[in-house]
Amino acid sequence: MQTKFIFVTGGVMSGLGKGVTTSSIAKLLQLSNQKVSCIKIDPYLNYDAGTMNPVAHGEVFVTDDGGECDMDIGNYERFLNQDISKDHNITTAQVYSSVIEAERKGEYLGACVQIIPHITDEIKNRIKKVAEDEKLDFLIVECGGTVGDIESLPFLEALRQMRVEEGPQGVIFVHVTLAPSLDVVGEQKTKPTQHSIQELRRIGIQADFLAVRCTKQLEEKTKKKIAMFTNVTPNDVLSCHDAKSIFEVPQMLHDQGIMDSIFTKFGIVGMANLSSNWDKWNKIAENMVNHEEQKVKIAMVGKYVTLADSYVSVNHALKHAGAEIGKSVEIGLIDSESITDYNQLSDYDGILVPGGFGTRGSEGIIQTANYAREKNIPYLGICFGFQLAAVAFGRNVLKLEDSNSTEINPDTQNPIVDLLPEQKDVSNMGGSLRLGANDVQIKEGTNAQKIYNSNVISKRHRHRYEINKQYIPEFEKNGLVFSADSDDGKRMEMLEIPSHKFYLGVQFHPEFNSRPGYPENAFMSFVKAASQ
Ligand code: GLN
Repeated sequence: MQTKFIFVTGGVMSGLGKGVTTSSIAKLLQLSNQKVSCIKIDPYLNYDAGTMNPVAHGEVFVTDDGGECDMDIGNYERFLNQDISKDHNITTAQVYSSVIEAERKGEYLGACVQIIPHITDEIKNRIKKVAEDEKLDFLIVECGGTVGDIESLPFLEALRQMRVEEGPQGVIFVHVTLAPSLDVVGEQKTKPTQHSIQELRRIGIQADFLAVRCTKQLEEKTKKKIAMFTNVTPNDVLSCHDAKSIFEVPQMLHDQGIMDSIFTKFGIVGMANLSSNWDKWNKIAENMVNHEEQKVKIAMVGKYVTLADSYVSVNHALKHAGAEIGKSVEIGLIDSESITDYNQLSDYDGILVPGGFGTRGSEGIIQTANYAREKNIPYLGICFGFQLAAVAFGRNVLKLEDSNSTEINPDTQNPIVDLLPEQKDVSNMGGSLRLGANDVQIKEGTNAQKIYNSNVISKRHRHRYEINKQYIPEFEKNGLVFSADSDDGKRMEMLEIPSHKFYLGVQFHPEFNSRPGYPENAFMSFVKAASQ
């Protein structure tokens, strides 16, 4: 079978959960034994998400192959329990760069290079390449932004062309919109959806499905009204009402008959509708919501706390681990820049410091890492939280008072965290960190080895600075062990304090490998320790 494409567009406004709709449809197809994957198109001009502020745009999700991607890629990985490569995140800059490079090489043979066909061809080629390389049955492509945005026009045009080229049995469109209800009247309003569908039609796209976000289930009469104005049958107007968890959305769509309708539209007959894996998934999904009575309280101390999405994979990883032991993890976000009263941390069962960059808020992190050590509170430090735990130990146990990372104080006398020589001349910000999956060697007899039950693990990275090896003997003499390294001992990867209840720092980002039903080991042991 040739790959079938499902294109997901957005209307009315951002933040309606296009990513969840996309992931849920992909999940349902996967549960029907289809080989599926997802692509996220980001029409912004950044080459990738790597240079974007997490507080404005959400976390930068790192893939195995070192992509710095939009956080929706993380949603796809978690829903599908499958690794996704960086070519699944297409941006305007990537498309234009390729076209401009080809033009400079003279590859267009004198043609006037234009948005149509050159840019749109490049977009289509990128989508088709993923489908072919991975021999997919279905590829779901989510186009970021909202219909009507100038930036997304070339992408929507490319998707429109693909529908013509592949035919109606090769491509279907799902449009995600909103039916708000005004409190006073309580009636579900359809006008925003009508307008957004008109906008979509104006550029030549007819939606096959509407996924309508609403607080309460979409009423039949509202479905009918929307259907009438949008050329979509009432059956294919899908209610996406508020749910307790995003993991309930596949079931919600399935109950409305989306699978039969998708297969019918693609002209696929006799397709088994959901395999036996459905039960397994449902158990995982149920497990992710049902533990409100038993709580583990985790303080997350970082500087990007104004937007919960800036640590979205960490939040998920904590919840995956909690679900595994039948507890719900309550996360307290604490701003490392403004924290003064460290005793508030004693209200929590565990303290987590996620990744971060730069000077602002770093003193609060150093003190937090020290507080957790002194008070014997379970601590998990990720990347920056690993590096600054070492700095805190340098200051407070080794008594090297100006210990620091040269990222924070380039002139410190005790650069416990520093650049490796090869990073010293790097001037570009984008794509110049150490990125993606690398092997980590774990030392025999350490807590790390127990946690991972292995001597070598592959984990994703995103950092520039490293533990300065010069200080290791002093650390180890004083009770802090570097329990894993990489690149033949060039870089330190994990630290632990064996005498502590649970004190673990990791240079890598374990959160990117955690999936519902398959929690990541470091998170699992941290949450377990916190719950005891
Ligand atoms: N800022 C640190 C570095 O560049 C840590 C990075 C991170 O936490 N992702 O090494």
